This record gives sequence, C-alpha cells and structure tokens, in this order.
Amino acid sequence: MKIKTSGRRGGKTEEQRRQIACVLNGHPRIVRMCFGYVTCARCGHQVGDTLAGSYDVSADVIVGHDCAACQQNAAKLTRRELTLLPPDVRDEVKALLAMGAK
Ligand SMILES: [Zn+2]
Ligand SMILES: [Zn+2]
Repeated sequence: MKIKTSGRRGGKTEEQRRQIACVLNGHPRIVRMCFGYVTCARCGHQVGDTLAGSYDVSADVIVGHDCAACQQNAAKLTRRELTLLPPDVRDEVKALLAMGAK
C-alpha cells in the first residue's frame, strides 16, 4: 500500500517554502493591503501598517492594483522577489508587467 506523503514529513509544503524564501531573501516588494495593514504577498506576514505611518508602499506592488506606480514597481522586481509567489500573485504581477510593456 502506498501512502501519499506529498508536502508532509521531510518534504516541505509550498507555504513553508515561501516563508523560508522570505526569511532568506527578505520580503518581496509585493504586498497586500487590508484596512491599512500591509502584509507580504508571498508569506502573508504583516510587514507594516499604513495607519501608523510606519510603512511606505510607494515602492511596492500592491496586489489588486493596476495603477501606473504599481506597473513601474513590478518592472523593478528581481528574480528573487518573483520566486515562489502564490499563483494568484504571480498572475497579477505578470499582468502588470504586460501592461507596463505597452
Ligand atoms: Zn514575506
Ligand atoms: Zn498601485
């Protein structure tokens, strides 16, 4: 009998790999904004909150945005920042890059 162990014991889950990527390389400049809170789009950790003015998103790509600033910021992302992104975020960044290329 074969037991599927994908993602468990020994192997790491996709989520763990994302968190490790952030620990090793830092959070990518891609964030989600929710009620003023800013969370990393890769690992989901809170990286700041704009209400307290402790975080400046002007150099970040904000998930769900397609404004000119986000397009420019997407073009500046490095390979390391683009690795291991959740699929929805990766699609979003791709779309921004396609828009920026026009
Ligand atoms: Zn992160
Ligand atoms: Zn934006």
